[in-house]
Order: sequence, then structure tokens, then C-alpha cells
Amino acid sequence: MNAVLEVKKLKKYFSTTKGIVKAVNDVSFNITPGETLGLVGESGSGKSTVAYTVMGLYQPSGGQILFQGQDIALSHHKRKRVLKKELQIVFQDPGSSLNPRQTIENILTLPIRLHDMDYKKGIAEKVQEILSLVELPVEYMEKYPRSLGGGEKQMVAIARALATNPSLIVLDEPTSALDVSIQAKIIHKLIEIQQEKNLGYLFITHDLSLMRNIAHRVAIMYLGRIVEIAPAQQFFETPYHPYTRMLISSIPVVSSEEEKLKPGKIPSTGEIPSPVNMPAGCVFHPRCANRMPICDQEEPTDFEIKPGHWVKCHLWSPKK
Ligand code: SF4
Ligand code: MG
Repeated sequence: MNAVLEVKKLKKYFSTTKGIVKAVNDVSFNITPGETLGLVGESGSGKSTVAYTVMGLYQPSGGQILFQGQDIALSHHKRKRVLKKELQIVFQDPGSSLNPRQTIENILTLPIRLHDMDYKKGIAEKVQEILSLVELPVEYMEKYPRSLGGGEKQMVAIARALATNPSLIVLDEPTSALDVSIQAKIIHKLIEIQQEKNLGYLFITHDLSLMRNIAHRVAIMYLGRIVEIAPAQQFFETPYHPYTRMLISSIPVVSSEEEKLKPGKIPSTGEIPSPVNMPAGCVFHPRCANRMPICDQEEPTDFEIKPGHWVKCHLWSPKK
């Protein structure tokens, strides 16, 4: 199936007083219609920078971003209206992303007006339709964000993203500010909407366990690189990268079945190195329990260990 989004060797560098920060370094992935790619990493891994660069909030330092086959490595400002309508984002904190002075009706009407959509039913019907899609009562049109709970606000933010009938939504930690029960409800709703609309999701998160429930494929980022990407089931059952194994082994165990599936615990030492002073060779080597002499000399390249399952680690690369 043709990808809705293709990111090829994306780079985003920032110059700081301490030097150049290579926040995103040769990141490649794609998303097909109806698919969720989970982009997972600790803070500072570059996952949000990927999201903001895809959205045009940052100009890339290199590489390509293809949306429905068209190169869109342009600033948000220069993007065509059709593109802004097709590509939407939901931020982590609905409290600050919703205008407190506007009613829910106005918040949801704005993107429809802005994108000059050719809707036959009229704007009020369209607003009602998207409210019912996220299961909020029609009476909420009159309300202001402050009278809504955190989960309801995020549902409004999701409704706003859906208002322009996009093909892809970037979800930047959309549930991490919410209670676990509300989190589950929102994830469930997102899956339902995706199936109904054949939407692609780029789901950015630091919470790997959440990806078991929603992602079709999972990519792990570490210091600006994707170190492993695989179909979700395979990813959780047979992770290859030492960093992925470390992350999976730190997910709390909920059943004895899951305990059996867990890979051996791999001890890791140290904190994430500074992105200004990247370690030589494999950037994970200072924390890696499996490191070999080659690891601080040569950066590993991507190796496809099984169809669609890529890993960036000397342990698995054929020329080891
Ligand atoms: Fe560890 Fe070496 Fe693999 Fe890096 S390349 S993750 S240091 S084994
Ligand atoms: Mg972030």
C-alpha cells in the first residue's frame, strides 16, 4: 500500500552556545493509511523534533518528507492549504492548546472555516458530527474549555484535528497528562476513529507499554536515531537492540504469561549522554551491557534482521 507519509534520512540540527545539537540524525520511516507507527523514546531522544519537523514547525536540516508522494519539507507558513488540512497534530496538554476564551463550538468551527471546506451539511451539522465522533454531547458546543475535565479537553483537541478530515494525525504524547482510566478510553476512541476513517497516526510517546494497545509498528529512538523498528507483535516478542530489550524489561509485569515473554533483563549503566557531545561509534555504547571493541569505533548501520524488522547494532550486523 502506498505510504501516506514517508520520511527519508531526515536531519534536524540546532546550533547552541555549546555547539551543534544533532537532534534528529538520518531518521527514516513511513506510515500507510490506517496504520499507527509508535515513535518511542526517552526525553531528549528527538522524537518530538521529528514530529514538529513533519508538521513544518521546524525546517529540516536535510532529508525528505513526502506526504502522499509530494515533498513537503517546507515551513508551515509556506505549505499549501490542502496540506495543512490533510496533516493535523494533537499536543500533550489540551489545557494550553485550546483557547480558553472560545466556546467549544468556535474552537471546532475555526479549522473548518480556515480550510474553506466544501461541506454540504453546513457548519453546525459538521461540528455536531465531529462531537458525536468523539462521544461528547451536543450541549458541549456552548461550553468553554475550563468547564471540561482533562480527558474531555483532549477529546475536543482530537475533534478539532478531525474537523478538516485529515489523512494523518501526529499524536504528541496525547494521553500522558491524563489518568490511566481516561488514557484507556482515549486510546480506544482513537482506534475506533482510525478504523472508521482509515487514518494514519504517528504516535509519539515515552510510554512503551501503551504501544502494545495501539501501534501496528514500533520505532525506538535514541539520541536522534531510530535504533530499532518492527511490526508491534514481533517487536515485543523478539526485540534485538540492547536498548529496546532494556526498555521492554522495565515495563511492569501484569501477568505470568507476559513474564514468560520478557527477554532477559539487561543491566544498563549511566545516563543519556549530552546530545552536543555524542559518543563515538554506537551512541548507545556508554550504557550498553553487550558492547564489543568495535562499538566505540564504528557507528552501526541499519540491518533488516527479519522482513520489516530493522536494527542498528553491531551484534546483529552481518559484518560483525
Ligand atoms: Fe551495544 Fe554495540 Fe549494539 Fe551499540 S552496537 S547497542 S554498543 S552491542
Ligand atoms: Mg516531547
